[in-house]
Amino acid sequence: MKVYSIEQWHDGLLNGTIDVSLYYQQLQKEALFQQKRLNALTTICFQTPPQDLIFNSLLAGVPYVLKDNICTYQIPTTASSRMLKDFIPVYDAHVVQRLKQENACLIGKASMDELSMGSTNMTAITGPVYNPWDTKRIAGGSSGGSASLVASGLVPFALGTDTGDSIRRPAGFCGVIGMKPTWGLISRYGIIPYAASLDAVGVLTRSVQDLSIVLEKIAGYDFHDMTSSRLSIPHYRQNLSLDISNVKVAIIQNIVDILEDDRIKTLFQNCVSLLKKAGATVHNITFSQTYLEAIFPVYQIIANSEATSHHASLDGIKYGFQSQGQNLEEMIVHTRSQGFHPNIQQRFILGSLALKQENQEKMFKKAQKVRRLIVEDIQKILKTYDIVMIPNGDGIAPLIEEAKSQSHTLVDDFLIIANLAGLPSLTLPCGFVDDMPVAVNLMGRCFDEQTVLNCAYTLESMMPYCRQYAKGERNDV
Ligand code: GLN
Repeated sequence: MKVYSIEQWHDGLLNGTIDVSLYYQQLQKEALFQQKRLNALTTICFQTPPQDLIFNSLLAGVPYVLKDNICTYQIPTTASSRMLKDFIPVYDAHVVQRLKQENACLIGKASMDELSMGSTNMTAITGPVYNPWDTKRIAGGSSGGSASLVASGLVPFALGTDTGDSIRRPAGFCGVIGMKPTWGLISRYGIIPYAASLDAVGVLTRSVQDLSIVLEKIAGYDFHDMTSSRLSIPHYRQNLSLDISNVKVAIIQNIVDILEDDRIKTLFQNCVSLLKKAGATVHNITFSQTYLEAIFPVYQIIANSEATSHHASLDGIKYGFQSQGQNLEEMIVHTRSQGFHPNIQQRFILGSLALKQENQEKMFKKAQKVRRLIVEDIQKILKTYDIVMIPNGDGIAPLIEEAKSQSHTLVDDFLIIANLAGLPSLTLPCGFVDDMPVAVNLMGRCFDEQTVLNCAYTLESMMPYCRQYAKGERNDV
């Protein structure tokens, strides 16, 4: 099966070099093969484009997948949780409506960490998602299915969600591009939440151009989501430019210094040199060590408190999994104890603790105050600089066995700043270590997606990792 970018798809359909029904027959076979190899789909739902498909848009006829926390009318939406394993939504999320208008073709729902809580994609009720570059390794999470399927070449784009780093981490591990846009740029109507003040819908692709196309189609105001912005959406793709001579980039030196693997450091330094070569002004700066160390605890308290509150509705009464009990309370306790993975229950306990009246001041409210300080600090940096660049983590995708004990480092934590401050943040592959992809991350000012995209576009044009994918050998299975 040939692997196409969105533009190649469009051109091929228009000039007749792609036979849609034949391609979709091959795609079904390929999806089954990749499913055996990667375990990245929770539902396969082929909707072959109609014979009289109207090429009204660049996305017409283009296959894609959605993270399984994005509601799809009459198609199961499980958030990879036992609690929602039989949940069939009665409406489409706003982003799904938008993609339907474009005549894009949903071919499946992608596995994720349960309720988006995790970074390994090991907690999905359907089991781990494997990395297409080496199936002994994890794809990362929580949008692991989305990243893995784009990286396998099955689809040119996927949607995911990102609350802490959940698009960018799996994108980095799988060697694809992943962007979490500004908080409020894309409607979250119909998305099963994790933590509303941090959640964002985003896009995963194999090229910056494809990412710009999809972003433009799904961004913008939605009446159903009062947090969606009313700003008009720029023509990201049309505005893509390789001229970054007026862009000022800050490198967070104390993050780079933490890197333990010199090979990752070298790949990162190569990106710094490329940006300079392209004419950008690049300065090394230091981020407050105190704030750096505060990111994770602040995030944990806020994310888990919000999650505890959002998911109070998953009690087995209205929908989802239901257990038994002598009375209502016992039934709810049994439902929630059996319906959620122990990791999730642990998070709800932490969230409840932080929200308890006597703890609110010293936990939840304190975390909010420290969040404000961290946000002010990064915003101060972004007054002088257009872009902040950091390595996208300090290692390659771990082996399944290694990933069982979840860990995080200060390098990983820095990605969370984009969620605390609502900033656009894009992860781009920048090389290989031990035959596994490594990535770099670019953050920009709120609603200035274009500068982030332009820097990524420039870097991409100078590195050979655009459009890469790992299809796998038939004897892998
Ligand atoms: N790994 C982080 C967590 O588990 C981020 C998850 C996400 O962004 N959804 O909270």
